[in-house]
Amino acid sequence: MTTFSSLNLAEPIAKAVAAEGYETPTPIQLQAIPPALEGRDILGIAQTGTGKTAAFALPILDRIARNPKPLRPKSARVLVLAPTRELAAQIAASFSAYGRNIRLSVATVFGGVPINRQIRDLARGVDVLVATPGRLIDLIDRKAVMLNAAEIAVLDEADQMLDLGFVHALRQLMPLLPRDRQTLLFSATMPRELRHLADEVLHRPAVVELAHDRPPETIAHAVHAVQEGDKFALLEALLAEADFRSAIVFTRTKHRAKRLAQQLE
Ligand code: AMP
Repeated sequence: MTTFSSLNLAEPIAKAVAAEGYETPTPIQLQAIPPALEGRDILGIAQTGTGKTAAFALPILDRIARNPKPLRPKSARVLVLAPTRELAAQIAASFSAYGRNIRLSVATVFGGVPINRQIRDLARGVDVLVATPGRLIDLIDRKAVMLNAAEIAVLDEADQMLDLGFVHALRQLMPLLPRDRQTLLFSATMPRELRHLADEVLHRPAVVELAHDRPPETIAHAVHAVQEGDKFALLEALLAEADFRSAIVFTRTKHRAKRLAQQLE
């Protein structure tokens, strides 16, 4: 079995990975980390839950650990673009966790909250900036941050960013990055519009794609086709017949999650 040590990550990063309790790299990590460490662009087709965050964060942190640089005001060495504030916050937390043994500054910026604190956070510059595209453009317009010193750009959940209407924002942002940057693009799906964008922003990428035709053997999968109005009755019936101690139900929106929780109560 392939272990993390075979990936030859810089020692402080390898130690943090061990402290997280990770023993073996996930398939996406095994495939993406070696070419990313070589500086290659990556096109990763992977969903959340596959370990894709570490697949891009670990090689990036490896570079920062081996080649630390002083911060440059209003600049970021690494830019990570994500579709939502939740994901942005989660990615930033992962960088901080995996980077806990090195000197690392991480900033997270997203819309829907006051901008002034974000402007202050960026003033000294950061190693890693995790951003949603709209707010990042705002910050650039306000001259709070520049992208011309970025060495690495990550587009995470790129299909979601397109779905949320960020395509113009992305087309505006990508040319502001240096041409010789490294670019890592991750997406669960590859619709045509995204393929075009990927062609524009990636240079001879290593394509990393997981076979996702088989569910894990430990999990039974079933699909039930029902009308909207029958969903709750079906869920009740499934829960009544299942022998379980706890269950997780996923919903599409937080509003639905709240309503469903009330109904279940
Ligand atoms: P992600 O797909 O990046 O959202 O990661 C899914 C979850 O897997 C996160 O909770 C990670 O902490 C965890 N994880 C990532 N890589 C590994 C690994 N190699 N071993 C065990 N857990 C991992």
